[in-house]
Amino acid sequence: MTVRVRIAPSPTGNLHIGTARTAVFNWLYARHHGGKFIIRVEDTDTERSRDEYTQNILTGLEWLGMNWDEGPFFQSQRLDLYRQAVQTLLDKGLAYRCYCTPEELEQMREAQKARNEAPRYDNRHRDLTPEQREEYEKQGRKPVIRFIIDDDRQIRWDDQIRGKMVWKGSDLGGDMVVARTPEEDEPFGQPLYNLAVVVDDTDMNITHVIRGEDHIANTAKQILLYEALGGEIPQFAHSPLILNKEGRKLSKRDGVTSVDDFKAKGFVPESMANYMMLLGWTAPDSTQEIFTLEEAAKLFTLDRVNKAGAKFDWDKLDWINSQYLHNMPPEKLLPLLISYWQEAGYEFDSESDREWLLELTELVSHSLTRLSDCVEESRLLFGESITFNEKGKGQIEQEGVKEVLEAVLGAIADYPKMTAEDAKAIIKQVTKEKKVKKGFVMKSLRAGLTGALQGPDLIQSWVLLHRKGWDKTRLQLAVSKK
Ligand code: GLU
Repeated sequence: MTVRVRIAPSPTGNLHIGTARTAVFNWLYARHHGGKFIIRVEDTDTERSRDEYTQNILTGLEWLGMNWDEGPFFQSQRLDLYRQAVQTLLDKGLAYRCYCTPEELEQMREAQKARNEAPRYDNRHRDLTPEQREEYEKQGRKPVIRFIIDDDRQIRWDDQIRGKMVWKGSDLGGDMVVARTPEEDEPFGQPLYNLAVVVDDTDMNITHVIRGEDHIANTAKQILLYEALGGEIPQFAHSPLILNKEGRKLSKRDGVTSVDDFKAKGFVPESMANYMMLLGWTAPDSTQEIFTLEEAAKLFTLDRVNKAGAKFDWDKLDWINSQYLHNMPPEKLLPLLISYWQEAGYEFDSESDREWLLELTELVSHSLTRLSDCVEESRLLFGESITFNEKGKGQIEQEGVKEVLEAVLGAIADYPKMTAEDAKAIIKQVTKEKKVKKGFVMKSLRAGLTGALQGPDLIQSWVLLHRKGWDKTRLQLAVSKK
């Protein structure tokens, strides 16, 4: 059997973190088994679905590195198939026309509420006589199609994540609507979600349905539809929800929900994919947490996916992101940083300054947690002139600093192409010449070069500034300050 799994997003919003995590699990499962990963866009809700969301979802999945083998298929282009299935249910006597008006349904719910009962459709039109039906038709009522759900049924499946599952027919809310009311001339209206999913998963030979646990009740309904339509029932696996710090479902209120939000915050796709696989899954070696998608695919099994909700942990995501940034080759990292620097208003030419920018990238990469940190981490390295912070100013004003910096200025004139080695030699030479401690020279230099006493590696920073001739300008400024 070839494993065939799918991700079935509804394009009613940008790629959601929950959908992306479901995609990760499906992708890993498909790749682990040498199977197929399929994309199906569930866009039958014409009011809420939008092309731009479809585009966002597809580009988001690509950005995360999840290539697909088939699709994207669009449910909106497959409506005929769903109509046929509704007709089959009607022909088999497994579905019927329900003529209840919204007002009648509302009254029914009110009455149930008054009796302290859970709201459900009470199947009142299941056994209408032909005369009753005719009467309703004459009144001009438009029926929905309801699929018969036997209250006494027990629906069972062996969930690949949650184990044995049992659902009572009576807990499914009564006979379920599978097609809306018709427009003029139609025998019935637009087929609905659960039916379309079953038709598609059958037609696309889906072997495993891996999706969020919010779909558990749908699974029970869908199993009944598979039986009714004669489709082969796939294996089901319901993954835990992603929870916020308070243990509630991660939502818009938590500030981020879409993959774009994370991208904008400076997370790279490799770390997002890595973090999402850990939202519920633990590797066989539970101490290992850094994986590419390909590496994880070798190890991924559903029995290592947790049942309990997966708490979203910002610290861990930050840590994972930093690991990727610290290890990323400058050639790959630089293009990701450039827009942040441009936005910060730093002046550079990405073409002619490329070598310099690559060195700067290498220098700051070690202290980045998110891409956006590059703005702060490199603030002191861009530009000819600088402003001094309190500590930087304090250092510059100390006795003996001016002499040290003048000595440095004198020495750099001898090194038009100063390397890190040369820089170290200059520091040594000045230390000796001025009979001061090396630390004093370093501190004075840092203050003179950057206006602060803290920042990235001093020697490397100096070399970078030297390439631009900015070390000279800045030191001269520092000296003249006294
Ligand atoms: N369209 C559904 C959703 O976005 C997916 C349902 C499924 O995977 O079967 O939640």
